[in-house]
Amino acid sequence: MDLDLVFLGTSGSVPTGRRAPAATLVRRGGERLLVDCGEGTQRQLLRSGIGLVELPEVFLTHYHADHYLGLPGMMKTFSLRGRTLPLTVYGPPGLSDLFGALARVFGKLTYRLQLVELHPGDVLDRGEYRIEVFRVQHGIGAAGYALVEAERPGRFDLEAATGLGVPKGPLFGALQRGETVLLADGRSVAPGQVLGPSRPGRKLVLTGDTRPSGEVGEVARSADVLVHDGTFLDEERERADETGHTTALAAAELARAAGVRMLVLTHLSNRYFGPEIAREARTVFPETIVPKDFDMVDVPFPERGAPRLVKGGALGREEGLGDHGAAGGDAGPRGSGGDADDPPVGRDPVGASAGG
Ligand SMILES: [Zn+2]
Ligand SMILES: [Zn+2]
Repeated sequence: MDLDLVFLGTSGSVPTGRRAPAATLVRRGGERLLVDCGEGTQRQLLRSGIGLVELPEVFLTHYHADHYLGLPGMMKTFSLRGRTLPLTVYGPPGLSDLFGALARVFGKLTYRLQLVELHPGDVLDRGEYRIEVFRVQHGIGAAGYALVEAERPGRFDLEAATGLGVPKGPLFGALQRGETVLLADGRSVAPGQVLGPSRPGRKLVLTGDTRPSGEVGEVARSADVLVHDGTFLDEERERADETGHTTALAAAELARAAGVRMLVLTHLSNRYFGPEIAREARTVFPETIVPKDFDMVDVPFPERGAPRLVKGGALGREEGLGDHGAAGGDAGPRGSGGDADDPPVGRDPVGASAGG
């Protein structure tokens, strides 16, 4: 079962030339969960190899404009295309009020819109996985989301099964599903006799905007991937605290304490370009990445390896290298990955990153 994260928007508060505001797509098998929908998310999807697919679900972390402004426009486009698939939007309390105001923007829809307000501690059970809603600290009601897969059955021991006289065929499948089976000679074989210890599923944790929080640390314990607010450098830690955000250093300390496998920092202040955020965090937690828009993270089952950054992995063909020559040209955020990208032309020394 494939599981990955697509970073469609990695900027905090305001868009920059290279980064769009918050939007992260979680893909699990054929399922698509969009977490936050900053301004321009529909265009980010169109530019990506994914396209503006009819997302069934959007999860909002909170109601600062940099996390939802893209939603009314995207919803309008869906309507203009005559979408009929229902759309469910989840978010902390205040969702209905927000949509009361937004309704004037998107007007009448061709599809059913369902709004679901969620509270910390709520769990959406989806069988193979669940979505846990947890509290974050951002000064206003804000939620984080964890995708937690159920444990998987242990490895099937073919030799043990054959040794017990289980014939190849449907009984193998039944045992793998955890059922006890009856053999032709009247003996029964229990799954525990042929299955190894059950194996953990994967866990993704997305905080949205937050200060460092002990509660987040608990939720993130042993997560495969923690996507955390990394708005500022440590030199701006007071500002981070005032505005309800986290520094790269503090996020790295939290990730180390929680024993996560990979830390992903996002929601960068427009004062920063990425490499300096990554450098600071890696002094404490080396398994840190700071993705650009259209980067992806693949999350294999633990026994198949560690989570892996795929640079520009979600770029559409025409946005990628093919038509534009070498990386680092004007092809977009794929860049070189070095310190030289996002040159400080037009850098705003004041920054405008406090509000988001
Ligand atoms: Zn924000
Ligand atoms: Zn915010």
